[in-house]
Amino acid sequence: MPARTGAQYLAGLRERPRDLWLGGQRVTDPVEHPAFRNVVRSIAALYDMQHDPSARDAMTYRSPTTGDPVGLSFLTPRTHDDLVRVRTMMKRWADYSGGFMGRTPDYLNRALVGYASAAAYCAENDPRFGDNIRRYYEHVREHDLCLTHTLINPQANRAVGPAQQADPYLAARIADEDGQGLVLRGARMLATLPTADEILVFPSTLLRAGPDDAPYAYAVALPTDTPGLRFLCRESFDYGKSHLDHPLGSRFEEMDAVVVFDHVRVPWERVFLLRDVERCNKAFAVTGAVAHMAHQVVTKNVAKTEFILGVASLIVDAIAIESFQHIHEKIAEIIVNLETMRAFLRTSEVDAQVNRWGVMQPAWPPLDAARNVYTRMYPRMVEILQQLGASGLMAIPAEQDVRGPQAEAIRTYYQAARADAAGRIKLFRLAWDIAISAFGSRQALYERYFFGDPVRMAGAMVNAYDRRPYMERVRAFLERAEAAGPEHTPGPTG
Ligand SMILES: Cc1cc2nc3c(=O)[nH]c(=O)nc-3n(C[C@H](O)[C@H](O)[C@H](O)COP(=O)(O)OP(=O)(O)OC[C@H]3O[C@@H](n4cnc5c(N)ncnc54)[C@H](O)[C@@H]3O)c2cc1C
Repeated sequence: MPARTGAQYLAGLRERPRDLWLGGQRVTDPVEHPAFRNVVRSIAALYDMQHDPSARDAMTYRSPTTGDPVGLSFLTPRTHDDLVRVRTMMKRWADYSGGFMGRTPDYLNRALVGYASAAAYCAENDPRFGDNIRRYYEHVREHDLCLTHTLINPQANRAVGPAQQADPYLAARIADEDGQGLVLRGARMLATLPTADEILVFPSTLLRAGPDDAPYAYAVALPTDTPGLRFLCRESFDYGKSHLDHPLGSRFEEMDAVVVFDHVRVPWERVFLLRDVERCNKAFAVTGAVAHMAHQVVTKNVAKTEFILGVASLIVDAIAIESFQHIHEKIAEIIVNLETMRAFLRTSEVDAQVNRWGVMQPAWPPLDAARNVYTRMYPRMVEILQQLGASGLMAIPAEQDVRGPQAEAIRTYYQAARADAAGRIKLFRLAWDIAISAFGSRQALYERYFFGDPVRMAGAMVNAYDRRPYMERVRAFLERAEAAGPEHTPGPTG
């Protein structure tokens, strides 16, 4: 099957009902359920872009196995131009939601590109695993599947690893192994977008497992309708309101779920790494997967920052606060964030090099810098929107009020210098959904954490970054200063 349409994605969700729980009830049909119906249509719209005659050529490439058009985010880059092509495609998808969807399928497609290109890495764990990851990547590409992933163990006791928790089956653990494959029992937290077709249950990009953690060290992939696999969702932030009342939440609420493995069978062909703690610890970095994913993430950051700059600028214009100096400072801060993200992204492409697997890998240091700093930039931009909008973010009557008996009063008292009441309410509703609503708060938490704990991301950066040349330079400078400095001539009092 070549690049899918949205209708094919929705039909797949109906054909393969997963064990999805929300509010004490099983969700039998996410395509029609109020908590999921909007987001699955947003994902469907992304797939439809692949068939839009004006975008098709920029969204797809010819499958190396069938010659059919397949999604461009599956492309294994060999040149700098390939990276630009993939990024341009990913930007289109990111722009669709203003960057407010984290699990657009390209995110994990890029991870798979990295893993499959480094199949030899998996083969060193077990020769079968190399073929498995290559075939799995082709399967996902040729069926244009939508993936989610779950990397971390439940947050019960962070002072110890998974093997030392109160219950050894709290964190999903290999409970059995036979000729057919593995059996997993326990849980993982968290998976965004439980309406994906498949889930990658992979090692963390960041958390280092110890030798006792071998039963928790693996990389496997499963269809989300696999028997025993269960998704326990949080409350939905799509409150069933109109697009006017809830412009982002009513479209892009992806949902997050804890993933329970109740004796889940994993066939051998879906196992890519197993019980090799050291290899699992290094997998995302060595395969290049984390760099390919971060290339997508920073593309999304650019789209999101552009969108926020647009919203902030429209607020400034609407209520005529453009002449105040501190407003310039705040808008300039968003512009600096945007240009910083763009610069990191471009540098990652320009400095990309062919890695040991023969793949053009975006340069990691600028992407690492971007992922570290965006955890602070994003919450700050939310704060700026609050500072620009002030009480205007509360003067946002619902659509029913705008059309109801108070319509006349609303037309009068909600007008802005450069917008009528309807236009102003629409704009401030959007700013509210970024900066105040449950959807917006979750976005801030997402940007802080989804790519890992910022504290440990900083630790990983410090440990990996080669600072020795700069230490040497400063040492040399200190020595030079001593050798060549003018002799100290004591003054009259010295
Ligand atoms: C909205 C959202 C969506 C997400 N979606 C996904 C997803 O789709 N798939 C997925 O796999 N993950 C997802 N995540 C999870 C993400 O990977 C984690 O949030 C991240 O790795 C941090 O882990 P944690 O949340 O368990 O925090 P914890 O590790 O429990 O940390 C809690 C606090 O304790 C501190 N702490 C804990 N241990 C240490 C330590 N050893 N050293 C220093 N400080 C420590 C942390 O700094 C933090 O302040 C998502 C997270 C969010 C918020």
